[in-house]
Amino acid sequence: MHPPILQMGFFTLLFMTVFDTIRELKPALNLYKDKGQSVGFVPTMGALHKGHLSLAEKAAAENETVVVSIFVNPTQFNNADDLEKYPRTLKEDLDLLAGLKGIENRILVYAPQAADIYQDGVVSENFDFDGLENEMEGKFRNGHFDGVGTVVKRFFTMIEPDNAYFGEKDFQQLQIIKKMVAKENLPVKIISCPVYREASGLAMSSRNKRLNKNQLDAAPLIYTVLKQVKNDFGVKSAAEISAWVSRQFENNPELVLEYFEIADEETLKSLQTEKLPNTDYRAFIAVFAGDVRLIDTISLSE
Ligand code: AMP
Repeated sequence: MHPPILQMGFFTLLFMTVFDTIRELKPALNLYKDKGQSVGFVPTMGALHKGHLSLAEKAAAENETVVVSIFVNPTQFNNADDLEKYPRTLKEDLDLLAGLKGIENRILVYAPQAADIYQDGVVSENFDFDGLENEMEGKFRNGHFDGVGTVVKRFFTMIEPDNAYFGEKDFQQLQIIKKMVAKENLPVKIISCPVYREASGLAMSSRNKRLNKNQLDAAPLIYTVLKQVKNDFGVKSAAEISAWVSRQFENNPELVLEYFEIADEETLKSLQTEKLPNTDYRAFIAVFAGDVRLIDTISLSE
């Protein structure tokens, strides 16, 4: 079933064109490609916020046209309840993109149904990301990165973007996409974008829409903790810092720590004792607020 807003296949909204099939998107893209103009790509799962918009703006600054995909990808959800509850706000998403004044006429939105991407069944390819998939999120979200790799590879093959934009908020995902592109020799440049935050410090996330008032008030603690970690890194040991982080969430009525790690940005291997020379480290955290799972990260090198 197509959402009513897309029943016409494609349509133009305040100069921004929306497509629900690659068959219709491709000729529109080719108008740019045939002139030698570059295509930037921003994959999203919708429920857009300013973090997503910052990616679209960067893409528009660096490319003649930008494809923003809006697709809640079923294969990357390890939890059926999370998939079902994931916010879907297509009308608001399109309004936000149409509001990007000055660039909205260069944005092509691709909001497909699953059948357009998974013609041969909603299943994941199995990837070997050289172990990146086994760290952190990989330990807690079985099959998640196979689902991410599957959908992103299909998007890349269908859309053939010159540049693709990914947020550092999902830093492990970013490294995994870079790995996939390198291993499979895909002709696309991966560009990373900084974490966009609320004034409170809370990393913007589509899942924030599911937080109640108490959870929303409590959640900025996550970034407060990360900033203190950055201060203490190099002064205290990784073990001391991890123990301190655990204590910050103990007895918190709203937030439950799932994991905290300090890891090598390239290998994502956890820092055990001695820091390695010429290595950039980063802190990673996952916290539950009720059944809403929030992740965040901070560079410990910059
Ligand atoms: P999602 O819709 O959550 O799949 O995210 C789509 C893209 O937006 C991914 O590359 C995310 O890393 C990126 N993104 C999500 N939240 C933020 C944020 N707060 N700041 C920057 N990028 C973000």
